[in-house]
Formats: sequence, structure tokens, C-alpha cells
Amino acid sequence: MTLSEIERIQALLPQWVESSREQCSIGKVASYIPELSKSPIGALGIHLIDSNGLSISEGDTDLSFTMQSISKVFTLILALMDNGEDVVFDKVGMEPTGDNFNSMLKLELVQPGIPFNPLINAGAIAISSLIAGKDPAEKSARVLDFLRLLSNNSSLDYDMDVYRSEADTANLNRSMAYFLKDNGVLQGSVEDVLEVYFRHCSISVTCADLAQMALVLAHNGKNPTTGEQLIPRRFVQIAKTFMITCGMYNASGEFAIHVGLPAKSGVSGGILSLVPGRYGIGLVGPSLNRKGNSIAGVALLESLSREFEWSLF
Ligand code: GLN
Repeated sequence: MTLSEIERIQALLPQWVESSREQCSIGKVASYIPELSKSPIGALGIHLIDSNGLSISEGDTDLSFTMQSISKVFTLILALMDNGEDVVFDKVGMEPTGDNFNSMLKLELVQPGIPFNPLINAGAIAISSLIAGKDPAEKSARVLDFLRLLSNNSSLDYDMDVYRSEADTANLNRSMAYFLKDNGVLQGSVEDVLEVYFRHCSISVTCADLAQMALVLAHNGKNPTTGEQLIPRRFVQIAKTFMITCGMYNASGEFAIHVGLPAKSGVSGGILSLVPGRYGIGLVGPSLNRKGNSIAGVALLESLSREFEWSLF
């Protein structure tokens, strides 16, 4: 009897989760957002859903964690849906930076002083200012509703402890936002824009929620069950391209070589990835490598991609 791919994944995952988990001890949990330093350093979980709704969960998949930078993929999509490509790409560029995700270096060095791409902090803050809504509360509610729709989970909500912890300590993001305002990139009140940004970073999810969102991207914006087009295909294409070129911060090139899938990571240790047309994948492993990506999560995705030849390249 030959096993289907999903049965083979199911058979291999328990041992791979355990061997990848060994990497956790050489990484560190994020601590610049004080609340994140409480994350369990040895945790690793993965949830994978296929197009027929079959799912596999292995490891610490009960863990809730905040989306952090993973949310930037979806605020980009929402900003594109609200404004169109021309307006969005007037405010952010399309190029990887090679710098850390919170760097401001190139903002001053390279004219016209717009963020290089929407997935670095400066770019995502600019994107937050483009979300439609009369005030930060309405803008934030639109982002949360959008993520509830994509994750098929109407109870998705903020982790207010993480939200406050970031809002109280975000001196670097705050300085960046004021710099962007001075450069004419941000409209309106800087603190209002930052509130929208900190809120979407603090949306609390599980691996299953991320896998569900990823499956919509894997199906070019369609609800995998009903076939309803939730996101215009073109905007999914743009989002997935940024995930390949900038989704794993300044380790995106290395990740493209070793894994070869669209992915986005967050400093909480979450990773959202997908195999186009086939799987949505959500992972968490709060122990991070020096570039800020989940150390065990990246190792596990490398094993999966190698074994099942998932690389797009
Ligand atoms: N909220 C985080 C920050 O702005 C998101 C960064 C990340 O996940 N890389 O620093």
C-alpha cells in the first residue's frame, strides 16, 4: 500500500518535531517587547491543512501567540484592497533591504526616503496609515475582522498584555514613525498610526489559525471550502512575492535556497507558510535565531521541503 503525501507527513512529523526542537536551546526568545520574554523557549508546534480540509497538528499547537510581523502580510493586502497598487507603492517600495527588520538606515541614505518594502517595520507602519477607517479603532477593527474572516475564527482577538508592553516600550518604532511623518510618508497623527500597527501585531492566534489564513493565500485568495474570492488574485500574488523576497527578514535569501516557499515570520516565533495550491502551514517556536526567525521552525520547514520537494525553484 502506498501512503498519500499527507499520511507520510503525519508519520514523519512526530520525530521531526522532536529533533527540530533540540535547536531551541541555541536560540533566544524576543525580549525587546518585555511581555514576549515570557514565551516558552522550548515550544515547537506545527499545523498543516490541505485543500480538502484535512489537517495535521504536531507538537505544542495549543500555544497562543501574537502575530507580530506575520500580520504585515494581511495589512498590506487590506491596504491594497482599500487604495489600489498605485497609492500603496507611492508610499513603500518593492525591494529587500538586507538590513534588520527594525532598521532605519536606508530611510535616510536612499532617496526618496520611503521604506524599501511593506514587511520591514518602517514599511508596515506606512501601510497601517493606509488602512481605511475614520479613526484607529475603526481601522483596527477592519484588520481584525479581515483576519477573523481569513482564519475562519470569529473569536480571534488581541493579547492586550503584549499590546501594552509593545506600546509602552516602542521607542525605535516611534522614532521611525516620526521620521516617516516628516518625510511625508505618513498621513495624520503618528500616535494614531502606531496604535493601529501595535494592535495588529498583538492579534493572538494558534498554529491552526495561521494555517487557515495561509490556505487562502495558497488558493490565490479563494475560500478553500466555498470557492468565494476573498482577496483579489493580483494582491495575493503581490503578497506572496514579498513573502519570498522579504518574508524572513534579512534571511529571506537563505530561506529561499533551503525551503523555497513563501513564508512570513514574527518575533513571537510564529511562521506562516504555504505550498501553492496544496497546503496552508502555521508554525510556532518562540526561540529565535540571530535574524529573529524561529530557529526550530525554520529547521522543521527545511526538513519538510527537502523530503517532499516543495521548493518552488
Ligand atoms: N511588533 C514588532 C515590532 O514592531 C514586530 C516585529 C517582528 O515581528 N519582526 O518590533
